[in-house]
Amino acid sequence: MIGVTVLGATGSIGISTLDVLARHAERFRVVALTANRDAERLAEQCRQHRPDFAVMVEPDAAARLRELLADLPKPPEILTGVEGLEQVAALPEADYVMAAIVGAAGLRPTLAAAQAGKRVLLANKESLVVAGALLMRAVADSGAELLPIDSEHNAIFQCLPTHFSRGLAEVGVERILLTASGGPFRDWPVERLASVTPEQACAHPTWAMGRKISVDSATMMNKGLEVIEACWLFGTDTDHIQVVVHPQSVIHSLVQYQDGSVLAQLGNPDMRTPIAHALAWPGRFGSGVTPLDLFAVARLDFQEPDLNRFPCLALAFQSAQQGGTAPAILNAANEIAVDAFLARRIDFPGIAAIVAGTLDELPEESVEGQGLEFLLDVDRRARECAERLARRRAI
Ligand code: NAD
Ligand code: MG
Repeated sequence: MIGVTVLGATGSIGISTLDVLARHAERFRVVALTANRDAERLAEQCRQHRPDFAVMVEPDAAARLRELLADLPKPPEILTGVEGLEQVAALPEADYVMAAIVGAAGLRPTLAAAQAGKRVLLANKESLVVAGALLMRAVADSGAELLPIDSEHNAIFQCLPTHFSRGLAEVGVERILLTASGGPFRDWPVERLASVTPEQACAHPTWAMGRKISVDSATMMNKGLEVIEACWLFGTDTDHIQVVVHPQSVIHSLVQYQDGSVLAQLGNPDMRTPIAHALAWPGRFGSGVTPLDLFAVARLDFQEPDLNRFPCLALAFQSAQQGGTAPAILNAANEIAVDAFLARRIDFPGIAAIVAGTLDELPEESVEGQGLEFLLDVDRRARECAERLARRRAI
């Protein structure tokens, strides 16, 4: 039996992961489940999947979880805090770790899983954006396997040769074509974006996801974070990545080879496909996803992204090119700005303005030879700055 820890079990990716695991119960055993504070949902998941450990980051919620599971003959051991997350990410009985916490909060446990040499199923793209060099080095040093769950990166991974490790040119790749749905505001008049509500921003046309990534898709910051993620995962740079707006979200990304071949991975937009792919890799098994019906899809459209409409995408490209601490600053400012937008404290265009302002105010530093504490400090300073800018911009 393969032991699996699911970090962020109560979220959109966590729920899809447990669905796929339950379809292959003869092969996988759930070792640990974690959540931030949704004790009710985590308790239900513990009843169904019977993990050895459950982590509630918030201590009050942990006490509530303990009460909710008190009648189980063998309740899970309940841990709290970031230390609890790190502990279950590195458990000897966990062979695979699904990293599905949202935001930079996922960095410490994802890094712990990488250092412990696990197969890391990476949904938490923010951890690569904040600490790409550190995480990739931990993977190389420990012999961990890093498999992308983000649908685009999973698609690219599937379109690369199986023996691919690093160096796209060596396997004859010219560039990566990263597809993007364009989000709910792809065709809105730019003037109307000032009046966008959180509900409108979270109503994604093709994917059902958590709130933070839904807003990121609406600003296209999500694609920007994914450009940075692709640079780390595939050892490349922004000159070799083209963002392609593809509203149907059926082609999940493409790889263009030097001989003119372009390979693509297609499928219905359902995260259980990349999750099942990474769980079964290098094999294949069922995911529960409805098979793609090309006649129902009927047509596939492609557009160039409009950087005036989506300034967050331009900011992410600039940060990727600058390197150093710029991506970590971009990510932290974006997390604060998205929270402020969801709390109706700032308007939608305020997200890009706060990210740009934070990047302007904070010095960009090298990350050469720096460790986790340095990056966490950059993250903290960027959050403080972004919070200040958000208060100044309050509506
Ligand atoms: P979500 O908001 O639905 O779930 C987030 C999970 O993280 C929850 O289990 C929550 O309890 C936990 N969490 C939140 N804050 C935490 C904290 N401070 N400490 C510990 N745990 C915390 O998010 P999601 O949509 O499932 O996305 C998770 C990650 O996967 C994100 O990085 C996102 O970018 C990535 N991703 C998601 C999708 C998708 O379809 N949802 C697709 C690609 C990539
Ligand atoms: Mg994606």
